[in-house]
Amino acid sequence: MSKTESAPALDFVRSIVEEDIRTGKYGGRVHTRFPPEPNGYLHIGHAKAFGLNFSIAEEYGGLCNLRFDDTNPAAEETEYVDAIMEDVRWLGFDWGDRLFHASDYFDQLHDYAIELIRMGKAYVCDLSAEEIREYRGTLTEPGRNSPDRDRTVEENLDLFARMRAGEFPDGARTLRAKIDMASPNINMRDPVIYRILHASHHRTGDKWCIYPMYDFTHGLSDSIEGVTHSNCSIEFEDHRPLYDWFLDELDVYHPRQIEFARLNLTRTVLSKRRLLRIVEGGHVNGWDDARMPTLAGMRRRGYTPAAIRTFLKRVGVAKTDSTIDIALLEHCVREDLNRTAPRVMAVLNPLRVVIENYPEDLVEEFEAVNNPEDPTAGSRRVPFSRVIYVEREDFREDPPKKFFRLAPGREVRLKHAYLVTCESVVRDEGTGEVVELRCSYDPESRGGKAPDGRRVRGTLHWVSAAHALEAEVRLIDYLLREAGPGDEGADFEDLLNPNSLEVLTSCRVEPGLADAPPGARFQFLRQGYFCVDSVDSKPGSLVFNRTVSQRDTWAKIEKSQGA
Ligand code: ATP
Ligand code: MG
Repeated sequence: MSKTESAPALDFVRSIVEEDIRTGKYGGRVHTRFPPEPNGYLHIGHAKAFGLNFSIAEEYGGLCNLRFDDTNPAAEETEYVDAIMEDVRWLGFDWGDRLFHASDYFDQLHDYAIELIRMGKAYVCDLSAEEIREYRGTLTEPGRNSPDRDRTVEENLDLFARMRAGEFPDGARTLRAKIDMASPNINMRDPVIYRILHASHHRTGDKWCIYPMYDFTHGLSDSIEGVTHSNCSIEFEDHRPLYDWFLDELDVYHPRQIEFARLNLTRTVLSKRRLLRIVEGGHVNGWDDARMPTLAGMRRRGYTPAAIRTFLKRVGVAKTDSTIDIALLEHCVREDLNRTAPRVMAVLNPLRVVIENYPEDLVEEFEAVNNPEDPTAGSRRVPFSRVIYVEREDFREDPPKKFFRLAPGREVRLKHAYLVTCESVVRDEGTGEVVELRCSYDPESRGGKAPDGRRVRGTLHWVSAAHALEAEVRLIDYLLREAGPGDEGADFEDLLNPNSLEVLTSCRVEPGLADAPPGARFQFLRQGYFCVDSVDSKPGSLVFNRTVSQRDTWAKIEKSQGA
């Protein structure tokens, strides 16, 4: 096994799960869940969360539910619900018949709330949102009791019933848990558990005008579903006492909440709220723009589920937050595509080359191996003729030292084809720019081998001008520019990279790519990995996204760290 594939050491979440299996805590059962709020598309951070939950279920013969946290009626959209399901499936996970919604439990949650009121553990409070905040105190000062805290059970039952019946406007009253306004944990200072909101819900319609809060809903939903291990990101650590409080007070089945570190990535925005701003601000063309760190964006860009899963394995699961270098993710993508993507020739910035001593109407076909890393990938034939295109940056009139590509008088190898020598250049009369190279070829060098064994260092990719297809290529760069000194307080919109997308419209690719289906991935020799854009590419007008460049900065980082 290579280093990337080797089984990760047992992380702390799996250690807990194994211990609970050993002691028979939940009868040996393992049951997890992934609870996204359908208010945006999933990003790579969510993939860490659902990857962990689904993988743990798989590894220990358990189950994992998909549960939409749809407690907030205002924000939910079916577009997000559909996208979330597609993305979870795309990464290779399956919730079987266990698709749930927090809203499935609204009736039962309402009953639980009444039970808390009856026990004297919840009360209706008339303070406004702002007053509640004022009364809550701070990290260093205790809060103050609400004037309504000592309402009788009867009064609370009556007011809560009237809240539900729609007698009060939005925000007029709340139902709060009666815990401890002096708790050092602010989450325990009589948190709101129900609010009034006269809004239609995408599943329950107008049945409710009061909606339960997340903290109340979440643990009880876990309990109702028989979840054993409720794995969530670290910001919920301070909410765990509250999670436990509801379950203990109501004396119901009690799952265990475990918090793990969030995934942070360099040069990447991983906050749904901010990603929404990027989409709505028109900085990208939608949630599935190939620059987005969403799974939909990564899919469109050409990332593979296998590469993302390898990445998540290598990142692992820990308790403390850290920021992962995005070069690691790109390295995993490269590693996967190196094995699986056919290699083809594409010229991104074409420079015309005429091979003067090559017969006018001759076309030869050269055998080209599709992927030397994959013996089953076979080979194809690539046409060659008198006029070809090479990469503009592969020619220099005044080549610097160690530039082994084309220059006046210099001989290079055309991959799979012949050795050619640059004899002269043709310039645009107006601008003086080099617009064409005139070359000669060595007819004895078929396949690119020097007949006398002379040393030819440079090997260039090329396409035959008469046969190549025109294509658009989108070079994708990071969404965020490298933060510099003085950027600390900057609005994140100011940190957006203005050059995150460069579109090249007159690229030329091998004729064999004419039928490449949407999403097909290739290595463009010497350029990196590219995929056919699944939205904008059409037969006859091909569009490619650069998935990842050729240069592996992570391999370099690893080497320098002696890893
Ligand atoms: P917001 O709270 O702004 O809506 P969110 O990213 O927390 O955004 P949720 O839909 O609540 O959105 O997230 C679903 C699950 O994904 C949560 O359990 C959360 O712990 C987890 N999650 C979200 N972001 C990350 C991340 N960067 N790394 C790991 N887990 C994450
Ligand atoms: Mg959240």
